[in-house]
Amino acid sequence: MIANYHSHTTRCNHATGTEEEYVQNAIARGLQIFGFSDHTPQFFPGDYYTFMRMYPQELDDYCHTVRNLRAKYAGQIQIPLGLEAEYYPGIWIELMPRLQDAGIEYLILGQHWLGDEIGEPGSGGATADEALLKRYCHQVMEGLDTGKFTYLAHPDLFHFVGDRSIYRRHMGELVRFTRQAGIPLEINLLGLLYGKHYPNEEFLALAAEEGCSVILGMDAHAPSHILNPEPEQKALEMVRHYGLKLLDTVELRPL
Ligand SMILES: [Zn+2]
Ligand SMILES: [Zn+2]
Repeated sequence: MIANYHSHTTRCNHATGTEEEYVQNAIARGLQIFGFSDHTPQFFPGDYYTFMRMYPQELDDYCHTVRNLRAKYAGQIQIPLGLEAEYYPGIWIELMPRLQDAGIEYLILGQHWLGDEIGEPGSGGATADEALLKRYCHQVMEGLDTGKFTYLAHPDLFHFVGDRSIYRRHMGELVRFTRQAGIPLEINLLGLLYGKHYPNEEFLALAAEEGCSVILGMDAHAPSHILNPEPEQKALEMVRHYGLKLLDTVELRPL
């Protein structure tokens, strides 16, 4: 692994360590590219906000911190400035100019909720409801269709526990879309580290069958996540087992 584009900071309220510790561990691990992609601020209507992302007023400091580290460690490692964003159709139009103004260089799509989040189900809860699975897939495709996302983070986050042919039908549509759009799919190393319901092997089999490209993403929420080699080894076994096309770097799509 020479590049990782998926890392967080304490601004999301569920990550630990300083940004510099992340960078130092990335260098120690031998990475050439280490992108920060913390959970993007959102511009919700009214008073609604959630604990798992930075506040809009923290965005400037985030950008400033990452750029300072980039300058300090220039020549040792490249540090692109990104965000992991949801595609929330109702407030997307509000979000984009703010991220462009801040100088964000890339986005990865992490669809953690359906709809615009408020009053909607999360993607990670176990469900056998086909309508929700279908909404997840369609919302992700609509998001990717904006052309703003460099890759799709934990594409298999949606936790469908119903009929497998239904899962394969809808996820099959999603992987076909990403292959046609040339958007890489992430194999999420944090899911492997914590034994989460993703990466989903059925999903990887579909992606392999479709000929999709995959990229490993650490989804680091602590500096120690960067040094642990086990999730990468497990991911590489999956890549070999299913015959997936593994990318070692991706081309960043400008906002
Ligand atoms: Zn997170
Ligand atoms: Zn995520």
